Amino acid sequence: MTGGARICLCLASPTLADDVRHVEAFRGRVDMVELRADHLAPGELASAGRLPGLVDLPVILTLRRTRDGGRFAGSEQERVGLLERLVGSGFAYVDIEEDLVAPSLDARIAEAGVRVVRSLHDFSGVPSDLAHRIARIPRGPREIPKAAVTPRSSAELAGLLEAFDGLDAPEKVVIGMGDIGFPTRVLASRLGSAWCYTSPTADPVAPGQMDPATLEGLYRFRATDRSTAVYGVIGNPVMHSLSPRIHNRGFSALGVNAVYLPFLVADLPGFWQVADALDIHGVSVTAPYKRSVLDRAGEVDDLVRSVGACNTLVRTGRESAWQGTNTDIEGFLAPLRRVFGGAIPRGLGATVIGAGGAARAVVQALAGAGARVLVLNRTIGDARALADAFGARSGGLDERGMDEAARFSDLIVQTTSVGMGPQIDATPVPGFPFTGRQIAYELIYSPPETRFLRDALKAGCRVVRGRQMLLAQAVQQFRLFAGAEYPPDLADEFLTQGD
Ligand code: NAP
Repeated sequence: MTGGARICLCLASPTLADDVRHVEAFRGRVDMVELRADHLAPGELASAGRLPGLVDLPVILTLRRTRDGGRFAGSEQERVGLLERLVGSGFAYVDIEEDLVAPSLDARIAEAGVRVVRSLHDFSGVPSDLAHRIARIPRGPREIPKAAVTPRSSAELAGLLEAFDGLDAPEKVVIGMGDIGFPTRVLASRLGSAWCYTSPTADPVAPGQMDPATLEGLYRFRATDRSTAVYGVIGNPVMHSLSPRIHNRGFSALGVNAVYLPFLVADLPGFWQVADALDIHGVSVTAPYKRSVLDRAGEVDDLVRSVGACNTLVRTGRESAWQGTNTDIEGFLAPLRRVFGGAIPRGLGATVIGAGGAARAVVQALAGAGARVLVLNRTIGDARALADAFGARSGGLDERGMDEAARFSDLIVQTTSVGMGPQIDATPVPGFPFTGRQIAYELIYSPPETRFLRDALKAGCRVVRGRQMLLAQAVQQFRLFAGAEYPPDLADEFLTQGD
């Protein structure tokens, strides 16, 4: 195959009219479409052969049986009969399962000059003998083997990448379904997959399909090729991360041949295999791996050593070796310096709410800047351990803690996860006595405005938002990844745009 992978729009509406509407909505963005004829209403199925003439794009005909995740509930005989009738209606490809034996259909396909996508599906995992099985898929040189499987771990994703890489076929398609398999979609060109399936709706036929605009815009699909450098963010959860938006826009603006994507990691050892398989150049590290990646980082800098956590890994020249740093500290301090119009005043009284991984970087940053720090946490023992490591004071999220906070009240930093996700209207400090004189600093960036921030704003406080810290730490990472400064206009745009 020459050139990059194509974008295929998966059509799974009950009517051909709806399918055509979806194609028009993404016209110009997609190169081909797949008609999931098994999703058509019974009355529409007989006229499925009209679609190629209506959309003027190469069309894959698919009539998927239920055991492969489809909706065709009739007998195999009926399915084969329907495919035989439809296949000569202008379809460019027909997708049939690797275990289907139907000589009459094969003959009809050959007569119609249609290419076969011969597919293997696994909705519950990755077969351990995948390499062997996919090597046997194509039944002739014109057939396109396709593996659509569901990695449940990074180790399984690595196995899928290896099996696909070893498959010697002029054209082939790989799909890792679900969030763990997501990189196979974004990296289709990089992996040598012939196309990537996309969905016109937020309710895709296969888990993990995104819409063509996201694939093309956010993930730079048309700009990637076999030599594209791969970067990403590892964590669990991670699919909500805004970091791909920051880094990919930077790469695009500077014309860097690189792409950045989320890697949902359930097993860190498996991820290192994925990193080797994809030759990943660098990663951002988020919860819960900021400490555990240290086992693998060959060299770490003083920032990592002092805070005991690493949020950035960059591949060194030596094979499989990584260099670790921590950009959370500077990411936290940079927006705060802007509030003060320069250096952070020594002796600043700061209350840090929370004692998790993020709080560690915050306390390290504040202690290093000469602030007086109080750490308050639900689990008092964790507050004490963190505070002791940096010569700070500690307490609980209780009345006594709140009383003490009155003496550390120039800056209040909210580092817990309370206010995110299901606890969207919660704050770890309900009734906190904001007076308007404090600076309130929120680490949560989604939602952009938490109840903690709303309470502070209502009292007239100056605030720093999680998005400012996220951007500031990403800008440091971008310098390491791209070897260039992040474009300031993109930084401004990121801070002012919504989710
Ligand atoms: P973490 O290590 O899991 O720590 C979670 C903290 O939240 C702990 O102190 C925990 O207290 C506290 N907590 C959780 N549920 C609570 C509840 N119901 N009531 C009171 N306290 C509760 O997480 P993390 O890595 O520090 O991340 C924390 C937040 O910071 C996340 O929202 C993350 O997205 C954000 N963050 C933002 C940036 C940025 O650049 N803007 C960077 C890093 C992190 P216990 O010790 O009592 O469990």
